[in-house]
Amino acid sequence: MSRSMNRIGHLYFDLDHTLWDFEANARAVLWELYEETKLGAVLSVTFDAFLGHYSTVNEALWDRYRLGQLGRDEVRYVRFRDTLTALGMPDSAEKSQLAERLDAEFMHRAPRQTRLVEGAIELLESASVRYRIHILTNGFPDTQNLKIDGSGLAPYIEHRISSADIGVLKPDRRIFLHALRKAGAKRRDALMIGDHLVADIIGARNAGIEAVYFNPEAKPHPEKLRFEVRRLQQIGDIIGV
Ligand SMILES: [Mg+2]
Repeated sequence: MSRSMNRIGHLYFDLDHTLWDFEANARAVLWELYEETKLGAVLSVTFDAFLGHYSTVNEALWDRYRLGQLGRDEVRYVRFRDTLTALGMPDSAEKSQLAERLDAEFMHRAPRQTRLVEGAIELLESASVRYRIHILTNGFPDTQNLKIDGSGLAPYIEHRISSADIGVLKPDRRIFLHALRKAGAKRRDALMIGDHLVADIIGARNAGIEAVYFNPEAKPHPEKLRFEVRRLQQIGDIIGV
């Protein structure tokens, strides 16, 4: 454990892609929907093509959401419609209905999935002995609560802070300051852990909070970071548990 970690008392975890395995959970639901809607036969596309286009469209929409260019409902409405467009389906009433059905089913099923990132429970289990643990997420409280409660994370989590609470998203420093206030933590008591370089890591830094970048794919980046790990297990060494 590094010396300055001694005074840390609060761990703030991002949820999606950090503790809750967003990729694996989304993929499982998309596979169910691909099978049930017979998309392979209807559009002559493989599941990998469906998944690939969906991921590309979805990520681009979320980037725009983070920048405040799109609302939540627009992201929802557009992502499957644009995926079907990318797969070559012409505009029609049938396409709109299919997009709406895919979105409704996805929204219902995805947050009920329970796959966690490898090592998540073990890390929370050992960290909870010494630290107070909170979730700080840009996701929406209704869906994030389903994920936390369904996947076994709940017993370790004291405060669940959502950007929706105050209407600003990470990396806006106000959401980090709100998170500190809510748990009664000081900047120097807190450590943020997340997979998004800008939202989680730069955001925390701008709020004066130390952060650990969870970068499982070792994506290259230009930032000089004090703490970066590829596996959650490595965080135990940083926080001394
Ligand atoms: Mg994340």
